[in-house]
Amino acid sequence: MDLNLSGQVAIITGSSSGIGRACAIALAREGVKVIINYHSDAEGAEAVRQEITQRGGEAISVKADVSKEEDVEDLVESCVQAYGHLDIMVANAGLQADAAFTEMTLEQWNKVINVNLTGQFLCCRAAARIFRKQGVHKHGRAAGKIVCMSSVHDEIAWAGHVNYATAKGGVKMLMESMAQELAQDKIRVNAIAPGAIKTDINKDAWEDEESLEKLLTLIPYGRIGQGEDVAKVCAFLVSDAADYITGATLYVDGGMMLYPGFRDNG
Ligand code: NAD
Repeated sequence: MDLNLSGQVAIITGSSSGIGRACAIALAREGVKVIINYHSDAEGAEAVRQEITQRGGEAISVKADVSKEEDVEDLVESCVQAYGHLDIMVANAGLQADAAFTEMTLEQWNKVINVNLTGQFLCCRAAARIFRKQGVHKHGRAAGKIVCMSSVHDEIAWAGHVNYATAKGGVKMLMESMAQELAQDKIRVNAIAPGAIKTDINKDAWEDEESLEKLLTLIPYGRIGQGEDVAKVCAFLVSDAADYITGATLYVDGGMMLYPGFRDNG
């Protein structure tokens, strides 16, 4: 399928590693000019930039903390300065700060909410302002496209991770309310909810055989996901092939949402 994304411009937050990195590479492969946002790993961001440019793609990297309003404004501004417009925002940056509920500190709570939820609000708002001003232009049928990186934990409760699950539950409502409000401006807003994808964020769950085996009991499809599994869906969602999709969450989870505990009669 020709996704026809050539010449479009995308910001992918937290793309010096993991799922964001895979999305940046996949979009660049489709001819998208990519802004690789990173928080502190300048080397990682540079490696992604080189991987893209060595394959003939265009990319720059920009440092910004997505939980800081000023940083986000500067991030979007440097994109417009570099490329003149913006077509795609992938609000992907995220982290975990896990603790049992009664042990969780306010700092751990705030850290995750600030990055995983407020960070998405700030990035999506900054992008939507530009999309609205820009309107539908020569690149595609929408004025702009937003993809929020959610999680199966927008639905599945997660003991020991209430800050993370609360943030992702919030992302679901943030995404759906934005989609409802911005559709009249021809701005499409969707979410991808990954299951278990092999990245640094969940290393504990796959780095040794025993942990991986335990994890696989939760995945009917029988394998851990890769960044590319998510990136391919991201490229589809921001293309005109998905022009009639807005307000949707696509679960990319090998069936994790299917209550695998009930597989053998419950
Ligand atoms: P990752 O740790 O490789 O990537 C997260 C990225 O976010 C990192 O590059 C990190 O530097 C960046 N980041 C953290 N705080 C930031 C900040 N304040 N400003 C800018 N960037 C910041 O892990 P990942 O798995 O690739 O995670 C990407 C997204 O996918 C996250 O939102 C995560 O919640 C979500 N997700 C991951 C999985 C999984 O199984 N890996 C499952 C569901 C959802």
